[in-house]
Amino acid sequence: EITLHDLEKQYGETTAVEDVSVEIRDGELLCLLGPSGSGKSTTLRMIAGLETPTSGTISIEADDVTDQPAYERNTSTVFQDWALFPHKSVLENVAFGLKMRGMSKDDRQKRARSMLERVQMGGYGDDDPTNLSGGQKQRVALARSLAVNPDVLLLDEPLSNLDKRLREDMQIELREIHEDLEETFVHVTHDQDEAFTLADRIGIMNEGELVQVGDPDEVYENPKNRFIEAFLGDTN
Ligand code: ATP
Ligand code: MG
Repeated sequence: EITLHDLEKQYGETTAVEDVSVEIRDGELLCLLGPSGSGKSTTLRMIAGLETPTSGTISIEADDVTDQPAYERNTSTVFQDWALFPHKSVLENVAFGLKMRGMSKDDRQKRARSMLERVQMGGYGDDDPTNLSGGQKQRVALARSLAVNPDVLLLDEPLSNLDKRLREDMQIELREIHEDLEETFVHVTHDQDEAFTLADRIGIMNEGELVQVGDPDEVYENPKNRFIEAFLGDTN
């Protein structure tokens, strides 16, 4: 479980995140959904330890990690620009983070192979990542992030650089991977179709605040305020 308590982040005069409190349940896929500039990425980056909150606390598995640097937290992040190492093979990319965790070479390769299979990239271990399609690169990035067995996988608009068709396929695949692994995922998107396809629960953000958290049905049927109603009404 991850608990965010009264999180706030100021950049000079700008309040990027304000009063964000939520309990993220073990094994759930929580989507943070909201318009551009609503504080989604900043919230995710604070969970990862890439930004320090101005105030408030974050705990992961009952440990207060608020003052812990990113490398001491057991979180993994997938960004929209799938940063793979071009001079390493697909398998080496996935095995990369395991070396620091003291795993033997055999075990690293075994683990990396099994993660590649999970994302349906089992046949590509020896390939050069520069030759892969966007969707394949994103699958490898996902396998690499999951290989280290993080307490939580943080995804910041991981599909937004893909074309519509591929994005829809990947949403379904991501959902399946999540159901298969039962790990905790926090997935940021501004795309409500994506959120409703993927989420166990949706957290709606607006102007730095988390304005409603609930099951997709609940949020859809009973939007808590005018903003959410209008935001969800936009394309529905
Ligand atoms: P998008 O959908 O466009 O990615 P977002 O919901 O992820 O938006 P954030 O990136 O969290 O939004 O930004 C929230 C607010 O904080 C915005 O007003 C943004 O301009 C501001 N902000 C974010 N990062 C910084 C920074 N490093 N310095 C100054 N202001 C920042
Ligand atoms: Mg963002």
